[in-house]
Amino acid sequence: MITDALVHLDLIAQSTKDFAVRNIHPYVREWDEAQIFPVEVFQQMGQLGLMGVLVPELYGGAGLNYAAYVTAIVEISKVDGSIGLSMAAHNSLCTNHILQFSNEEQKHHYLPKLATGEWIGAWGLTEPNTGSDAGNMRTTAIQDGDYWVLNGSKNFITHGKSGNIAVVIARTGEPNTRDNASAFIIERGTPGFSAGRKEDKLGMRASETTEMIFQDCRIHKSQMMGKVGEGFKQALAILDGGRISIASLALGIAQGAYEAALQYAKERQQFGRPISDFQAIQFKLADMATEIEAARLLTYNAADLKDRKQPVSKAAAMAKYYASEVSVRVANEAVQIFGGYGYTKDFPVEKYYRDAKLCTIGEGTSEIQKIVIGREILR
Ligand SMILES: Cc1cc2nc3c(=O)[nH]c(=O)nc-3n(C[C@H](O)[C@H](O)[C@H](O)COP(=O)(O)OP(=O)(O)OC[C@H]3O[C@@H](n4cnc5c(N)ncnc54)[C@H](O)[C@@H]3O)c2cc1C
Repeated sequence: MITDALVHLDLIAQSTKDFAVRNIHPYVREWDEAQIFPVEVFQQMGQLGLMGVLVPELYGGAGLNYAAYVTAIVEISKVDGSIGLSMAAHNSLCTNHILQFSNEEQKHHYLPKLATGEWIGAWGLTEPNTGSDAGNMRTTAIQDGDYWVLNGSKNFITHGKSGNIAVVIARTGEPNTRDNASAFIIERGTPGFSAGRKEDKLGMRASETTEMIFQDCRIHKSQMMGKVGEGFKQALAILDGGRISIASLALGIAQGAYEAALQYAKERQQFGRPISDFQAIQFKLADMATEIEAARLLTYNAADLKDRKQPVSKAAAMAKYYASEVSVRVANEAVQIFGGYGYTKDFPVEKYYRDAKLCTIGEGTSEIQKIVIGREILR
């Protein structure tokens, strides 16, 4: 049984890697420099099952588990963290929210399009004034007969412009009260819904990040997911799973940076021998390999708990916190091993270094992960 599962993951890793090497690797630098969000690549990924990894076959998805999902994100992110981030946001946030909390009609309508990559999904929780403190949101939805009218804005939204649909959490109750938010599915082109500024980012530049603006945006009540007031609780549950995907993203970036540095250390000669002969470099590689292995174990542990439908908040926060900090440390050491060449765009490590930093911020900063872990262990 265990062997079967490993063979299965090996196959997923190999086919995802082949895809990434063929369809992503040749364009990484161009997309990064020009901040190009390559929509067609996500459509190709959809044909491979990578845009609906967790979606049951009934709704057009690949019907795989979290361990498979982690494996696929790692392989994509080894080649380009931006594509890994967009894959994670589409699968874990938008698609998974609909999978977990919508009714059958909504599922049948939206999931096949999302799972096949025909449509790209966005998920809007963060606002200009409320990031970590997301419960304090200002975007409101006011009921008007059979409609809800949304006003406000969301920022830092992955696919906020190119997404065909967005899952949006808006306040439907009084500020600072319990259960005061609800979740809506909003299609692009709905009057009153538009994209604002696209962010010019340090890293993850091929993953589109924009504002979403709502001005008297009327949404039929059938577009709400679950019941009035359930939105914030739904969002927290979605973030638990999402954090496993950001841990996987961080792991892939770290692994990519480490492999590049290992190879370079064996090739680069100084003082008449490869720099890998120097113990200072060996110790760096040893630390990198050890921390990556620990991050991998935490990430697959969280995935395993999720697959066995066990509580996952603590494990997902630990995996996300540790893997993202490791990713930053490993990418930093990779640049150091490359020396001056690491600081140029001729080698891939400067990009790993820029991309890795997002992992300590998105879907809850490292500080917020420690708050979640602390709360869970003191329960
Ligand atoms: C590239 C990118 C993509 C993103 N995609 C999405 C998306 O698709 N959908 C979405 O909804 N959001 C998205 N986000 C938003 C992201 O989740 C937030 O940026 C993140 O949650 C942090 O919020 P903030 O930026 O407002 O920082 P703040 O909350 O202002 O935090 C600033 C600093 O204060 C610290 N801090 C805050 N509160 C506390 C506390 N109580 N205790 C200790 N320290 C604290 C933080 O850790 C951080 O160091 C994205 C962000 C980026 C950069």
